Amino acid sequence: MPKPECEEALDRLFEYIDHELPDEEIHRIGDHLKTCPPCEAEHQINEKIKRLVNRTGHDEAPDELRMRILATIRASRDVGATD
Ligand SMILES: [Zn+2]
Repeated sequence: MPKPECEEALDRLFEYIDHELPDEEIHRIGDHLKTCPPCEAEHQINEKIKRLVNRTGHDEAPDELRMRILATIRASRDVGATD
């Protein structure tokens, strides 16, 4: 099970990336990401998805697209592909 601070960070990741949180929470989550590699990895993945989605011209990735991108990124990471 993830730690409570991990759950919070992952729960707020999209708002954090979009800067839609109060400064206090931005700082708290930012500090957590710096000290928690698994959460930082999720953060990087979601930043990447956001950039890909922006390129397609949609504001929001449909869940299906998001899952497909996540699966692709995770699969390439599992086989140790270089970025
Ligand atoms: Zn964490």
